[in-house]
Amino acid sequence: MTDVLGPLIDGLRADASSDGVTSVRNPATGEEIARVGRSSAEDADRAVQAAHRTFQAGEWRRAPVRERRDVLRRIADLVRRDLETLATLESQNAGKPIVAARGEIGVVAGAFDYYAGAVDKFHGQTIPSQANGTLLTFREPIGVCAAITPWNFPLAILSWKVAPALAMGNSVVVKPAELTPLTALALGELALEAGLPPGVLNIVPGKGSEVGEALIDHPLVRKISFTGSTEVGKHVMKSGAAGIKRVSLELGGKSASVVFADAGLESCVESSIFAAYDNAGQDCCSRSRILVERPVYDEFVERFAARAQTLRVGDTADETTEIGPLISPEHREKVEAHLAAAESEGATRVCGGERLELPGNFLSPAVYTGAEPQMRLMREEIFGPAVAIVPFETEDEAIRLANDSIYGLSGSIWTRDIGRALRVARRIETGMLSINSSSSVHIEAPFGGVKQSGLGREQGMAALEHYTEYKSVFIADD
Ligand code: NAP
Ligand code: MG
Repeated sequence: MTDVLGPLIDGLRADASSDGVTSVRNPATGEEIARVGRSSAEDADRAVQAAHRTFQAGEWRRAPVRERRDVLRRIADLVRRDLETLATLESQNAGKPIVAARGEIGVVAGAFDYYAGAVDKFHGQTIPSQANGTLLTFREPIGVCAAITPWNFPLAILSWKVAPALAMGNSVVVKPAELTPLTALALGELALEAGLPPGVLNIVPGKGSEVGEALIDHPLVRKISFTGSTEVGKHVMKSGAAGIKRVSLELGGKSASVVFADAGLESCVESSIFAAYDNAGQDCCSRSRILVERPVYDEFVERFAARAQTLRVGDTADETTEIGPLISPEHREKVEAHLAAAESEGATRVCGGERLELPGNFLSPAVYTGAEPQMRLMREEIFGPAVAIVPFETEDEAIRLANDSIYGLSGSIWTRDIGRALRVARRIETGMLSINSSSSVHIEAPFGGVKQSGLGREQGMAALEHYTEYKSVFIADD
């Protein structure tokens, strides 16, 4: 029997106070890879108290900016030092192809690098005053921030919360997804090794219904940063209201790619394939609706389906694997129920959507045509390897279809006509767009959604807004 990993509270690996243990499994094999103690509400409280104590003591928030910068930089260096170990852990825990996992750990190091550089570049102002005196603003840390993260990009999403929060001098309590706590715990240890004072960053693995609830309701938590489903996000926002907590939310999506007839289909198809199926479609930015201008629609569907069928799905340790499994057997069943609903509503499955003869939770990439705007396939986030490809006749129709969603997270436009690309970009209701590309994540730019895809932004200097408060100070001339 392997050891049971406990939470990291006040710089120490503790035992979880509950008897509950999560068997952490490799989604590609079903095998247990670790046992993690389920933190209780009591553990969450101890973590918040530790974070609060360190915040009050001020060792971190009042540290010279150079010191904060250097600690964040050292975290980035340690993440790079341990890149292979962390990537293997993430690959085995979240079911990611090893090559993708390495890329994500690189993203984590990049986030700590970026916010190390931001420590001394985000500041208050002097403001011309109508009164006789000087007006200043301070940008101050908020206090204890709770970071609640999902299982699809476990450490990357953690880094987009923890790095800016720490850069601004806050203390943090992280609740990783119950299914994927391993890299969060490892990062907590690396932060201590990098010289972050104990208690500034605490990691409490456990259930959302217990640890998550305890954090969002805790009176000493001043800010909640949540990434996950829109449904739980609404609940988090409501709970936060009781204490007027600062809340930022990164939620679901149903993003559209708009492909015009003049797009170079070869690169567009190759890129759209990964925009749809990367991380087995368990990606909030997944372009799960592909809108294609009529003259190239048939050719696009043919090329796309052909490529989808050659994707290498399977062994996540294999360097050539492109698509891994779904996170859990239960999640695969949920995705399969979506596919069944698509068919009963009248969409046509061109290929995929089948289980593989492997022990893990694999599903082959599915392509649908014949989807109508009111179908669940077009409206609901499936969070699995499935796309609908839909024809359009005019630019206006494409925009109307793209915006016909409660979500607005990401999206792509494919055309060689720069005027049209920008015209359409202005009219699409979304937080992020890529033109002739499928990328959504750039650490230098604000990341987040409009409508029910979220509130607030991560990444870029914009994230720092969400981890600071203004304090206005007036100094009389005499
Ligand atoms: P989820 O079920 O909403 O869970 C997210 C996190 O919230 C987990 O840590 C979960 O704990 C916790 N949680 C659940 N119930 C809670 C409660 N009552 N109070 C406090 N915390 C609670 O989401 P998921 O299934 O892990 O992730 C998939 C979703 O995340 C998708 O909708 C996806 O679009 C979204 N997502 C959005 C972004 C973005 O940046 N916009 C990025 C990635 C993912 P448990 O582990 O116990 O469930
Ligand atoms: Mg969930």
